[in-house]
Amino acid sequence: MSHLYAVIGNPIGHSKSPQIHAAFARETGQDMVYERLLAPLDGFTAAVNAFRRAGGAGVNVTVPFKEQAFALADWLSERARLAGAVNTLKFTDVRIEGDNTDGAGLVADITRNLGFGIARKRILIMGAGGAARGVVLPLLAEHPALLVIANRSVGKAVLLQHQFSPYGVVEACDYAALAGLQFDLVINATSASLTGEQVPLPANLYAQNSLAYDMMYGTGETPFLAHARSHGAGRCADGLGMLVEQAAEAFYVWRKLRPATASVIAMLRQHA
Ligand code: NDP
Repeated sequence: MSHLYAVIGNPIGHSKSPQIHAAFARETGQDMVYERLLAPLDGFTAAVNAFRRAGGAGVNVTVPFKEQAFALADWLSERARLAGAVNTLKFTDVRIEGDNTDGAGLVADITRNLGFGIARKRILIMGAGGAARGVVLPLLAEHPALLVIANRSVGKAVLLQHQFSPYGVVEACDYAALAGLQFDLVINATSASLTGEQVPLPANLYAQNSLAYDMMYGTGETPFLAHARSHGAGRCADGLGMLVEQAAEAFYVWRKLRPATASVIAMLRQHA
């Protein structure tokens, strides 16, 4: 088995994946090499093929190439097919396999690391982009009472509602329609935090003992989490745990070994 892996994106210099996978390899006693690959914006497929020819066994895929990775894969897992995006490629002798571990990473962080049970809870997902699409199915698999997808462009939320309604109770709306509703788990899957923007949310959104979760990480308290803290959210969490958990799931896809994650999350928090 080849031991050569990489994370591919553009930009890629900021990626914490090499650190995370090096820690996983140490902990599980695997002899692995894990690189950063900067692909030109119009050169994703060529970069992946070159890496494969050079003996690569798999890559993690990050912004902006997850849809291109989806198109490149010869075989897709069910969760990747429904997400319409691939964040993990595995090269076998005969094909390129595509998977999406983002949703499993989110669910593992919320349920295992934060100890928050999702079953029978009311969930709000803010955003209907790639990140939101990747987490809907794994969240529904935990049997929430209801999952509402709110988005600025409501049509994109409605499309997701139609796609995922066969798997659970899914509703779609814009942010104004949230007035008067309460949720146990509110997940920010918008990129608004990247620009320091706050999505307008009603004041009484958070139920008792609720969890506010921002998929964003590494920038200190985001406007979303600041708003949640001052508007009754029971607990707040950023997306660092999700990042490490999606990496652990990718490591499992490649190596069939499950690394422990708590020490890696703690290490990254210490160096943040
Ligand atoms: P996309 O570009 O695909 O989607 C962006 C979403 O954000 C859209 O729904 C868009 O709404 C919404 N949005 C952007 N700006 C605003 C605003 N000012 N007000 C309201 N809505 C806004 O991005 P992704 O889905 O790929 O990524 C979203 C976030 O998730 C990023 O911050 C990313 O870093 C994070 N992420 C974290 C991961 C982790 O491991 N922790 C993994 C994957 C993603 P509209 O459709 O109306 O434009």
